[in-house]
Amino acid sequence: MATPLVPQHEGSRLNTHSSPERVFSFELFPPKTAAGMEKLQTNVLHLAALGPRYFSVTYGAGGSTRDRTFETVTWLRAQGLETAPHISCIGSSRAEIRELLAGYTTLGIRRLVALRGDLPSGMGVGATGDFRYASELVAFIREETGERFHIEVAAYPEFHPQAANAQIDLRNFKRKVEAGASAAITQYFYSADAYLRFVESCQAVGLTIPIVPGIMPITNYSQLARFSDACGAEIPRWLRKRLEACGDDVESIRTLGHDAVVSLCRRLLAEGAPGLHFYTLNQAAPTLRIWQALGLPAAEQPHSDAEADAETNEGC
Ligand SMILES: Cc1cc2nc3c(=O)[nH]c(=O)nc-3n(C[C@H](O)[C@H](O)[C@H](O)COP(=O)(O)OP(=O)(O)OC[C@H]3O[C@@H](n4cnc5c(N)ncnc54)[C@H](O)[C@@H]3O)c2cc1C
Repeated sequence: MATPLVPQHEGSRLNTHSSPERVFSFELFPPKTAAGMEKLQTNVLHLAALGPRYFSVTYGAGGSTRDRTFETVTWLRAQGLETAPHISCIGSSRAEIRELLAGYTTLGIRRLVALRGDLPSGMGVGATGDFRYASELVAFIREETGERFHIEVAAYPEFHPQAANAQIDLRNFKRKVEAGASAAITQYFYSADAYLRFVESCQAVGLTIPIVPGIMPITNYSQLARFSDACGAEIPRWLRKRLEACGDDVESIRTLGHDAVVSLCRRLLAEGAPGLHFYTLNQAAPTLRIWQALGLPAAEQPHSDAEADAETNEGC
């Protein structure tokens, strides 16, 4: 049994003894240009030195980044890094998803992040494809590939913006778990209590899969405010006011954002969160600073796909 990277405090709020090994992971997006790819490669090498469990790579809804996601995943695989491609199903046919799964199987991928996605604006309701919800994608992946993949799904501590309320969203989250999800990654949030309440409400309805907090470093307030409006993530009033007071002072925003995210992560780990998933936006420095401030160790060897294969096979 692996030792947790950060010791759990006595009296931590969540009962997470079912998943003793904390999972740390880094999310990337597939670059559009050769220069972007070069930058990603440099940043991945810095991040890989920390020894994350895996890197995940986003996928544009409707298949808009299909080839670029595949290329980025292929490069990460060639570095021997465990990689989890995202697959969003809205706008796709069963045949397209089947082909993608076959490609990832050939690459030796063992972990996926399965999502619904949002239709790009301009695509009408007729373009929704063969899947309506992520639960249908999870069920399809299990039907087609059995237990080959560890499947991560999305979770929303402050509930999904299209859900009428938290209870309805929780019911829909449960459908994804019942369809075969292995674990979940949350939308980012800045209120540890929102996350803890969500995990407790999952446990109350019998959901025990690991729910890993998604962590968004704060470096640019106006960009964060735009993202947050679109995805329904709350920036608490105290934080918003203080970030607004920084005006255009980029250094003050970074310092305040760093301190806020570090104390959020400290509290989450102390309360028993089963790991952290960093939305790196392809930048290494903000995540590296948070990692160091948390006192998390750097690994001598990044986690490799060979180990991932061995561990997945053990679980089968
Ligand atoms: C960790 C993470 C990674 C992400 N990566 C990507 C990415 O790579 N590409 C991308 O395009 N987007 C990505 N997203 C965004 C995500 O696609 C959007 O948030 C999307 O709006 C919902 O996706 P979902 O998989 O949560 O959908 P679902 O779980 O299908 O839920 C979507 C909405 O439908 C409701 N619902 C679900 N099932 C039912 C049902 N049976 N009946 C009625 N209502 C139902 C839910 O309550 C919710 O309101 C990511 C989000 C997260 C948190």
